[in-house]
Amino acid sequence: MTNPSELLLCPFCKGKLKIIESARSDYGYDLICTNEFVDESGMTAHCPLGGHGFLDESNLTKKANTRPIESALNEQIREQGELIERLSSALVDVLHLIDEHGSPVIKAHATTLLRDRNALSAYATWKEKQK
Ligand SMILES: [Zn+2]
Repeated sequence: MTNPSELLLCPFCKGKLKIIESARSDYGYDLICTNEFVDESGMTAHCPLGGHGFLDESNLTKKANTRPIESALNEQIREQGELIERLSSALVDVLHLIDEHGSPVIKAHATTLLRDRNALSAYATWKEKQK
């Protein structure tokens, strides 16, 4: 029916999703999560997705992959990443200016500059892990 690799992962547990013909009379197809896990009591449990019914088979993959909240959050994360990138670049420029032309008083604030450099370093490490 639908190629599972075309479906996004389960929004609840990141398990594999599958579209099957529904056993319920009011739906033609169900979106189910194939993931099982052991809960706190040691019992095998199923993903909380349960099953999501679709009336007909038109655009099943597109319907299953439509997630407006997730899409909005991903866009927000992308925008925040761009903003962090711009702020990081601006901070690097300021630190270079201080290194080259800063007064002895400004340069004496080494602790603050060190904190800023450490923040930049942490950001660079985080950014590298995102790739
Ligand atoms: Zn799931």
